[in-house]
Amino acid sequence: MTIHEAHQLLKTKQLSSVELTKAHLARIHEIEPKISALVTVTDELALKQAQEADELIATGNTNPLTGIPVLIKDNMCTKGIKTTCSSKMLENFVPPYDATVVERLNGHHPVIIGKANMDEFAMGSSTENSAFFPTHNPWDLSRVPGGSSGGSAVGVASGEAIYALGSDTGGSVRQPAGFCSVTGLKPTYGRVSRYGLVAFASSLDQIGPLTQDVTDCALVLNAIAGYDPRDSTSVPEPTPDYTQCLTGNLNGLRLGVPKEYFVEGMQTEVETAIRAAIAKLKELGAKIEWGVSLPSTPYALAAYYIIAPSEASANLARYDGVKYGFSYQETDNMWEALEKTRQYGFGPEVKRRIMLGTYALSAGYYDAWYLKAQKVRTLIRQEFDQAFSKFDALITPTSPTVPFKIGEKVDDPLQMYLSDICTLPINIAGVPAISIPAGFADGLPIGMQIIGKPFAEETILKIAYAYQQATEWHKRRPEI
Ligand code: GLN
Repeated sequence: MTIHEAHQLLKTKQLSSVELTKAHLARIHEIEPKISALVTVTDELALKQAQEADELIATGNTNPLTGIPVLIKDNMCTKGIKTTCSSKMLENFVPPYDATVVERLNGHHPVIIGKANMDEFAMGSSTENSAFFPTHNPWDLSRVPGGSSGGSAVGVASGEAIYALGSDTGGSVRQPAGFCSVTGLKPTYGRVSRYGLVAFASSLDQIGPLTQDVTDCALVLNAIAGYDPRDSTSVPEPTPDYTQCLTGNLNGLRLGVPKEYFVEGMQTEVETAIRAAIAKLKELGAKIEWGVSLPSTPYALAAYYIIAPSEASANLARYDGVKYGFSYQETDNMWEALEKTRQYGFGPEVKRRIMLGTYALSAGYYDAWYLKAQKVRTLIRQEFDQAFSKFDALITPTSPTVPFKIGEKVDDPLQMYLSDICTLPINIAGVPAISIPAGFADGLPIGMQIIGKPFAEETILKIAYAYQQATEWHKRRPEI
């Protein structure tokens, strides 16, 4: 069931939130041993919230998110509930406050059913970097669900919850959405508050919804978007009602297809599916232009892997064993305690990023690496600006391949990094993008990415909605 379907049943008293919640908890207990999507299941809290929601609904509350089960990625602070970032460093960390997105959701009386597994500190594309366990793709349990919001995407695709929140620094909402055949939005940088999101790369991180369709995506964005004085990078722009743009009409919209996103090494089935999806958009009234060029795209990956690790190396300096999190205690020597805390607390990918970032920022190397990457970033932004003077949105695949096998890329970081080649330029430019289901190859999902102008979430939701009205891909569910 989608949010809007469940809401209808709750509103008309054909179903109670307690029943809905119990059904999802039962589903979790049944399939979690196979998919491992969750770090924490909040049974008690969920049932308590469901009861409260039922009381509110009985007294006339008609909020679309009230009483609906949701999963929160485990890097968003939840007061009184462990928030681990799937890291040993924060294995027992219980935040004393809620992230702004959680606080905003709570204002709508949701049912928080659990915290979702992820790549440690959101660094990864497969959820294999979780310090606890890898998550399995529900379409083929031997494959990865994508990452880093793998647990959130799997939870939604397999019916553990009705929707989820993820975070996206270089593709972490959209890529797992594509790999699991759900809808995933990365809003414009500054659209959604990052307060209480454990920082990975602060100039790139954004929180976004993972849902079963575009209508649900708009409903969740309505709840979480907007200015927050506690996040100085959140933008004081008014937020519209995002459901208003879901008209199904694409007449007159100009869509560009950038050629650099149809990369060498791309799987033919992916290309075929995206071409068919673009033909569908044309049929629906959009004007398509092929062969648009964003020439700096091939440098985006290199720029990202300088900028993101640089910011991470600074952000992760706070894990010193003193303030919170894991703390090595078996020594009287302060330096040894600090070193051992970080040695045992962080996994290999996190250490790799800290080393890359520290190197790129160090005296004598700063100009050659960090400064240069920032210049490339400006070029990439300018090229998007130029493209958006001609087009309302750009269409690309979400990933160059279908989900790969668990273990296939763990020993080759560069191969792993390449799976985000279509998503990370969007974070570099700070613009919004959505991934929606656009087909299957041998039973494995393929995602289409729709990229919009800054703060034009409405346009990409409108296009995605029209596509879903005309197709059935988003309605397929995996058999587990
Ligand atoms: N896979 C990319 C990385 O490892 C993006 C992760 C993300 O968006 N959080 O950095």
